[in-house]
Amino acid sequence: MIAALDIQVTKTGKSKINEIDFNNLPFGKYFTDHMLEVDYADGEWKKVHIRPFQDLSLSPALSALHYGQSIFEGIKAYKDRDGRPFIFRPYDNFRRFNISAERMMMPAVPEEIFIEGMRRLIDIDRDWIPMKNDYSLYIRPFMFAADDAIGVKASDTYKFMILLSPTGPYYSAPMRIYVEEKYTRAAKGGFGFAKAAGNYGGSMLATAVAKQQGYDQVLWTDAFEHKYVQEIGTMNVFFVIGDKVLTPDLEAGTILEGVTRDSAIELLRDEGYTVEEGPINIDDVVRAYQAGELKEVFGTGTAATISMIKELRYEDYTMKFDTDKWTVAPTVKRVLTDIREGRREDTRGWMFKV
Ligand code: PMP
Repeated sequence: MIAALDIQVTKTGKSKINEIDFNNLPFGKYFTDHMLEVDYADGEWKKVHIRPFQDLSLSPALSALHYGQSIFEGIKAYKDRDGRPFIFRPYDNFRRFNISAERMMMPAVPEEIFIEGMRRLIDIDRDWIPMKNDYSLYIRPFMFAADDAIGVKASDTYKFMILLSPTGPYYSAPMRIYVEEKYTRAAKGGFGFAKAAGNYGGSMLATAVAKQQGYDQVLWTDAFEHKYVQEIGTMNVFFVIGDKVLTPDLEAGTILEGVTRDSAIELLRDEGYTVEEGPINIDDVVRAYQAGELKEVFGTGTAATISMIKELRYEDYTMKFDTDKWTVAPTVKRVLTDIREGRREDTRGWMFKV
């Protein structure tokens, strides 16, 4: 059990909920009525506030803006068939958040603030969780360095916050992916495993170049040979080769340990598939394709759950797939969505009751 948390709650006098068209919810554009805010100073976390969503007043010398001590998480909450709110695997995101914090020299956020604070915030804004298939409430916890001084050093003060944003069905059309060989997202010893803001800023140029050429995203490869595949945009990647499902391992610390990745691995093993985590060389992927053994390629992540890949371009070679005939990716998507929306028994305790 989490210790009772002393939270100061200031509620809005006027909800915005009726101003929002719940049939048209672009990802991350609308926020609920309230937000959570906690300051860290003098080596400790101060009082937790839940207050009306509003702008912050910050110094232009804010350390986070200059040196990038800034991390975040992405989680989703759903309602079951009886309208009760649940959060999907929040403890996994909580653990990952503090792994990111440690790598970026930021203080750990205690469990009672992260989990209990999130629970209380969602409870207050529970009417914002849509109760339609494939709809959810996206939860964005984040922390940034708050010192107002531009000396290059780890900040002494931080702010931890949680925002909530209702989201509609994230229909992801099968994607065209470009295997990246020029730019690098992460190298061994770096911070690719952290959900740190800079990892996203640093990936935008490569993505934009790929988009100019008609691709949706890049598949990152290792920093040295540009041979070992890492991940795609904000998704982990899976390959179905022969009778096995393969995904890159986490050993090198260059990819994010996705909660959807872990869920997919467990669910596929339940369904009787052999899932292996290990280094995946793009040359072997091409050879499998040429031998007719590469059956499916897909990405996993909180936003889209599963995105199928219909085209994979490596150098001047294009691999194409007929996603209509796939079985593995649609199985993961269906089982996972059914658990999240309460249509299938949650045997692992993944759904955390608000
Ligand atoms: N890789 C990166 C770089 C991401 O940003 C995300 C999204 N959090 C993922 C993978 C997928 O992780 P998850 O399944 O936990 O959303």
